[in-house]
Amino acid sequence: MAQSHDKNHTSLPPKFVLDGSLGDIAKFLRIMGFPAKLIQENLLQERIDVGQTVITRSKELGNALRKRGKQVLILPRRAPNEGLERDLRRIVEVIGPKRMIPYVFCTPFCQGCNTPLQIRDANELTSLIPEKSLQYLSWVYYCSICNKTYWLGSHWKRIRRVLEYVLAGYDVIIPQPWQKIPPCQKE
Ligand SMILES: [Zn+2]
Repeated sequence: MAQSHDKNHTSLPPKFVLDGSLGDIAKFLRIMGFPAKLIQENLLQERIDVGQTVITRSKELGNALRKRGKQVLILPRRAPNEGLERDLRRIVEVIGPKRMIPYVFCTPFCQGCNTPLQIRDANELTSLIPEKSLQYLSWVYYCSICNKTYWLGSHWKRIRRVLEYVLAGYDVIIPQPWQKIPPCQKE
């Protein structure tokens, strides 16, 4: 892509700061490849950097942060029949597909601690992977902070269904369970 050598902040993936009630959304943003910090304490006391977008359902909190010049996305309350895919789809639409889509699946972040995951040879980490799964895996994602591995196993079917809704109509290949993640679209 033409912008890939652009060194300004727009060439980095969007970063998010979410209030503590939005843990499920933070987890999916991390899976998709976006750093998403979850703040359990008072968000108004948190340092929000340039380039970070706050996501909250609280209008009061959102407006207070906007007054301070922060970027804020206020999500509407979920209807009883709506799931988190509606929220995620809205985030992509509001932040902008041009800002988000090139980074989807580039570098996933640890679901537990928000650290960028490394791709590692599965044979190097056999103590962290059940033997049953090991026979299907040549590589895994690894978090060096949590000393934890992740892979696209059978659970990925459920995650994939959510992502299919979120990313429908955008130029993104969503991997199948057990499939190697395709190369990042920015490269
Ligand atoms: Zn971690």
